[in-house]
Amino acid sequence: MTNQKSEFKLIEWISQHRRPSPPSVEVDIGDDMAVLAPTNQRVLVTTDMLLEGVHFDLARATLQQVGYKAMACSLSDCAAMAVKPWAAVVAVSLPHKMTMEQAQQLHQGLEKAAQRYDCPLVGGDTTSWSHPLTITVTMLARATDTPPVLRSGAQLGDAVFVTGSLGGSLQGRHLEFTPRLKESQLLAQDYQVHAMIDISDGLAGDLPHICNQSHVTAAINAAAIPISPAAQVDDNPLEAALTDGEDFELLFTLSPQQADKLEKDWPQQSLAPITRIGVITAPTSPDSPLVTIHYENRTSEPLKLKGWQHFHE
Ligand code: ADP
Ligand code: MG
Repeated sequence: MTNQKSEFKLIEWISQHRRPSPPSVEVDIGDDMAVLAPTNQRVLVTTDMLLEGVHFDLARATLQQVGYKAMACSLSDCAAMAVKPWAAVVAVSLPHKMTMEQAQQLHQGLEKAAQRYDCPLVGGDTTSWSHPLTITVTMLARATDTPPVLRSGAQLGDAVFVTGSLGGSLQGRHLEFTPRLKESQLLAQDYQVHAMIDISDGLAGDLPHICNQSHVTAAINAAAIPISPAAQVDDNPLEAALTDGEDFELLFTLSPQQADKLEKDWPQQSLAPITRIGVITAPTSPDSPLVTIHYENRTSEPLKLKGWQHFHE
């Protein structure tokens, strides 16, 4: 993968091994820019960079998995805002030693996520260098009938919910997770969600973002936290669930009335389960902890903002 000829061959291969884009893409891969059809909905944009040695380790992940994850992280951001993915572009820097076949495997992973979640890859840039693999996905999304759900809308008394279960993601789930797009679309359609975020830095890292931006605090109930099977084997499953990160589950708040309706009507069988884990509270002093965790023995403590750290391998 060292010269322009192989780059050209790769782009040709990519173009042939993909599903044709929908009509909302007027000009696809191959020209200087992709052209998207006009829209009168709000357009959202996000970009995410995955670096070999920081976000993934090729000794522990296949190139297909890395490609899939690169798209899935941005798709999870779309879920967190309750918007519909539209199209993505990808910039890859391939190490010189990487073969054409390996570059294709990476793209198979990108394309798998693109197809599964209806978000065509409409362009990109391919370079090669004598350094590790990097992948940057930039994704556009469109708002649906409802406005995007922000982190800043949590209100006093809101119930706090999470989808799925938390912790232990680095054992493998972080490479193959399901972005919670279906769940977020149903939430935005049928409920008034006040604030939402996807959990990438762990509940202990991400709930404070909602609190900070909404100028509130939160109390969570330790016994209610859904701990994933992968975290159950940890020395401290609860801590793993709170701080491991890379869960890519949704964390959201809504009024107590809406919360009751949600618990009654949510299709637990066909979608990721939802669990009520706490409540939004008012800060009692300027230095109130953003999040307090309450244990079954009636003790409580401020939740430590450990979250997920880079260079974890
Ligand atoms: P330019 O020289 O104008 O940057 P390129 O030769 O880099 O064009 O790319 C040709 C076409 O292939 C463009 O439409 C570009 O968006 C697309 N492309 C390049 N690399 C990738 C990639 N890794 N994945 C998807 N599309 C790509
Ligand atoms: Mg280019």
